[in-house]
Amino acid sequence: MIPISVVRLDEQAEQLAVEVIRSGRLAQGPMVARLEHEFAALVGVEHAVAVNNGTTALVAALQVCDLRPGDEVVTSPFTFVATLNAILEAGATARFADIREDDFCVDPQALAAAVGPRTKVLMPVHLYGQPADMDAIVPLAQRHGLGLVEDAAQALGAGVGGRGAGGFGLGAFSLYATKNLTTGEGGMITTNDAGLADRLRVLRNQGMRQRYEYEVAGHNYRLTDLQAALGIPQLTTYGDNVARRRGNAARLTAGLADVAGLRLPAELPGRSHVWHQYTVLVGEDAPVTRDEVIARLTEQGVGCGIYYPRTVYDYDCYREHPRVVADPAPVAERVARQCLSLPVHHHLADGDVDRIIEVVRKAVGA
Ligand SMILES: *Cc1c(COP(=O)(O)O)cnc(C)c1O
Repeated sequence: MIPISVVRLDEQAEQLAVEVIRSGRLAQGPMVARLEHEFAALVGVEHAVAVNNGTTALVAALQVCDLRPGDEVVTSPFTFVATLNAILEAGATARFADIREDDFCVDPQALAAAVGPRTKVLMPVHLYGQPADMDAIVPLAQRHGLGLVEDAAQALGAGVGGRGAGGFGLGAFSLYATKNLTTGEGGMITTNDAGLADRLRVLRNQGMRQRYEYEVAGHNYRLTDLQAALGIPQLTTYGDNVARRRGNAARLTAGLADVAGLRLPAELPGRSHVWHQYTVLVGEDAPVTRDEVIARLTEQGVGCGIYYPRTVYDYDCYREHPRVVADPAPVAERVARQCLSLPVHHHLADGDVDRIIEVVRKAVGA
């Protein structure tokens, strides 16, 4: 079986975890500070604030945008549900702008059209590890005086024009088990604004700056040293792992390029993709359905996944929600019907990639 994702931690992670256990300091402490410091360097920002997961990273980032009831956050309809849940948790109204098919991210033109008098924050999602079109989105936010929160959960180390994803506005990252870098559960918020970083640090710790002195109504969003210990060694090898993912993606593309009915993902000019997922579209012109492809892959021991089967608001719990405005998003709806992610992770051997190509070609009848 070739799984869609694999978690394998090295000896250094074991050693650091043992160090934490022996220190008796299991909650937030020096390991978290070290993880933050090295994470900020990798993203290329001044500040990184660790939190307990990617969803709370998004919530906290939105909370320092000073949203009031009725304020709108515009995001992508083609994302993990956490993006939407974070907007609702922060008390804002969610609105959506359709995506582009070439990068699976929000379309800047649709985003511009969705901006209205209540819009307060733009929240692009850097899906599958490819950053959204920030060259168009940043000027749009500036022109309208809007906040910018990047859902960079899948895009650690990605960039646009040499600038790191998560460094354009407030960046929110996830360190969940299936992400490119993991602490099991975990999250990080990045910013170049020292004032915002300070507010985020206070917010994650019950709104407390000094013991029993509360500045704001806060929360417990803290990460633990035990978790941070698992992440620190992965920062050292992260560049090599991304290079490995990039190589796997190139091999998959070379091996599948001539298959009729499959549309393959590509790194767009000026952007650097970290290949969290390698996602193809099974087109209407393909000789088989997506379900048939999945059945054949599963039968042959090649893992795959559908990220995501529906637009994020297309569930009963959001349909009647007073703070979810679901304008039609035809591109996202079609992509949700056609998308299929294949293994691309850095633990794949070259032989695994060859096998994935062979099985996919057979499954699609090429
Ligand atoms: C994983 C993910 C999140 C949420 O992260 P958690 O750590 O699971 O809370 C948010 N947005 C996107 C796009 C994600 O992939």
